[in-house]
Amino acid sequence: MSANDGCVIVGASLAGAKAAQALREEGFDGPLVLIGDESEQPYERPPLSKGYLTGKDAREPIYVHPPQWYAEHDLDLRLGMAVTAADPVAREVTLANGSRVGYGKLLLTTGSSPRRLPVPGADLERVLYLRRVEDSDHIKEAFRSASRAVVSGAGWVGLETTAAARMAGVEVTVLEMAELPLLRVLGREVARVFAELHRDLPGSAGERLAQHGGTPAGRG
Ligand SMILES: Cc1cc2nc3c(=O)[nH]c(=O)nc-3n(C[C@H](O)[C@H](O)[C@H](O)COP(=O)(O)OP(=O)(O)OC[C@H]3O[C@@H](n4cnc5c(N)ncnc54)[C@H](O)[C@@H]3O)c2cc1C
Repeated sequence: MSANDGCVIVGASLAGAKAAQALREEGFDGPLVLIGDESEQPYERPPLSKGYLTGKDAREPIYVHPPQWYAEHDLDLRLGMAVTAADPVAREVTLANGSRVGYGKLLLTTGSSPRRLPVPGADLERVLYLRRVEDSDHIKEAFRSASRAVVSGAGWVGLETTAAARMAGVEVTVLEMAELPLLRVLGREVARVFAELHRDLPGSAGERLAQHGGTPAGRG
């Protein structure tokens, strides 16, 4: 069986790992390669702002499959390796180390990444983002020494992180561009309930709603 009979999946997270599972379950028995730029085996992100961040839940349950699953299903899992190019004519992808992998079918499950704050100071050491498991580890670690935090963005992830910080005894100020948290996803009526809920929580330093203005700059 040649590489042209095989399937390459780029992006080794939930969608990639589940697509590989579905292919095997549906009887695909050709070469199957799952390539991801993270060094962790595929994991689910929801716990990163919930039980894993608060320390209530362990690391193992975040993984999509147990480590042996990939070999058991004859899957070539390549981690810590970004795909830098795809050539649909030659039917091959190029990896960051210059090597190439041929494919018959190519599936892109490359997901999304957080929008970086376009303000001065956004790249300072104590400005953290939450997307990957190591981000969650860094934030959890920061909760141990920080007494105050500013959370930029009052969507689900921002508010869950806020709740986790307060549980760790960190005083939090939440900054949100819209006039209410979760306004876009929940609508005004329910968003108001969430705003009150968070204002009333112990450790809340209140919500400063920089409507339409965003976060102007960071220091320190
Ligand atoms: C903290 C947090 C909490 C969340 N909570 C919830 C929740 O409660 N409920 C809910 O429904 N959703 C939640 N989400 C959203 C949910 O996690 C995403 O919808 C889900 O991760 C999407 O999975 P995915 O596999 O499509 O993409 P992703 O998880 O984004 O994975 C894409 C993968 O592809 C890799 N990749 C990208 N480019 C390349 C490349 N060129 N080469 C190799 N690899 C590459 C990325 O590094 C990543 O590992 C949460 C997200 C976060 C960050």
